[in-house]
Amino acid sequence: MLFDRDKKILFADEVLGSVSLVSIMNSGITIMKPKVKTPIVELDGDEMTRVIWSMIKEKLILPYIDVHLEYYDLGIANRDVTNDRVTMDAARAIAKYGVGVKCATITPDSERVKEYRLKKAWPSPNATIRAYLDGTVFRKPIIAKNIAPAVRSWQKPIIIGRHAYGDIYKAVDFVVPGPGTVSLVYQPAQLGMPISFKVHEFEGPGVAMGIHNTDASIRSFARACIEYALSEKTDIWFAAKDTISKNYHGHFKELFGEEISARSADLEAAGIHYRYMLIDDAVAQLMKNEGGILWACMNYDGDVFSDMVASGFGSLGMMSSVLVSPSGAFEYEAAHGTVRRHYYEYLKGNPTSTNPIASIFAWTGALRKRAELDKTPEITIFAQQLEDTAIELIESGVVTKDLINLISPPAKSFETTESFLDKIDAGLARKRTALQA
Ligand code: NAP
Ligand code: MG
Repeated sequence: MLFDRDKKILFADEVLGSVSLVSIMNSGITIMKPKVKTPIVELDGDEMTRVIWSMIKEKLILPYIDVHLEYYDLGIANRDVTNDRVTMDAARAIAKYGVGVKCATITPDSERVKEYRLKKAWPSPNATIRAYLDGTVFRKPIIAKNIAPAVRSWQKPIIIGRHAYGDIYKAVDFVVPGPGTVSLVYQPAQLGMPISFKVHEFEGPGVAMGIHNTDASIRSFARACIEYALSEKTDIWFAAKDTISKNYHGHFKELFGEEISARSADLEAAGIHYRYMLIDDAVAQLMKNEGGILWACMNYDGDVFSDMVASGFGSLGMMSSVLVSPSGAFEYEAAHGTVRRHYYEYLKGNPTSTNPIASIFAWTGALRKRAELDKTPEITIFAQQLEDTAIELIESGVVTKDLINLISPPAKSFETTESFLDKIDAGLARKRTALQA
């Protein structure tokens, strides 16, 4: 039997089979540089996270395991050169191989277009990949014992499941120049007359927006949440605003409820409870809750509340993220962005102290999933050791600047980006040697 930090069973003896833990330990070569059977799709990114990304790869991954990385450079310069084709190529590769790991990337706005002399403001790579994989994003805080959450009642992780398709992220919006009528028109594809809904009769300038979602995407969102909750054994909350948006939000509530009913036997057997709440009620309840729940959120709510939950648990640098597609593809990343401010310091040659934990957990998440699919427990062991080393370092009071006042007792000094990674490397090397001894 192989256990993780929370004493959850990772591999039962049947799965380990002939490669029992003892024989893995004794088979020097395998443990020295275990091989990842199937390629992992690697998506490189931008700014400070790109700097950290290559350090993690060079110091903590490649020296320890043998892995073929299908590399796609999603850095803003290469997206511009390829007219963003590289993003779609990467999305297809994730669908093909099943597991990807992604560095944070710039979503350019007009300021970034000037800064990087881009041909245009290319769309968000995350939105492109999410739309292609029709995935749901799950964000989970990475917990260290010496970091007390800002909300006293939070004892266990609160996982945010963000519906990753549609709503305002696929909106058509415009500035209404002056008096006139804005309508929504539905033209049936086959027979039937168009149906028109008046949105507003403007007496002066204003703004308007049309948004949409599809039953298929809502249902696959609900299914992904159910699968995730079953695998993590957490209760599920779903919240929306169906009292106001009776049709749009009401439809989400209805379809989500139907998918839950369809799996009620499995959920009951696993002791998982489902609650529907109004979004404002859910926010209030959350502040009194001990955690250990999967909070399924509509796209915008998930965007906003994942940042709230992340900072409530400590730092953005301690929040991991995975995109799960209904076809069984997984993409792991950190929840934070490219940490732009730190990058400008780095460019000036100043020391930085950027937390690499969420990026490291993106790598370990991808390796763990690959190991589960390939049935290679030695890769799971490696991922576990890397995570343990990183968390144990924080728990011993060695931290980056963002955590200095969050840990108790507060740290007196902090590590630079590089020295922190070096300490993880040293700890990992010790653990690997101990395992082989
Ligand atoms: P950010 O990268 O999330 O960082 C915002 C602030 O949070 C940082 O300035 C820093 O605060 C703190 N922070 C975040 N991650 C940290 C870490 N690992 N260690 C220490 N502190 C951390 O957001 P941003 O700098 O405003 O955005 C930069 C770019 O990221 C944007 O172009 C945006 O499009 C992109 N973005 C990408 C993704 C993605 O690819 N998944 C997600 C979000 C944003 P202090 O400065 O106070 O130290
Ligand atoms: Mg956000």
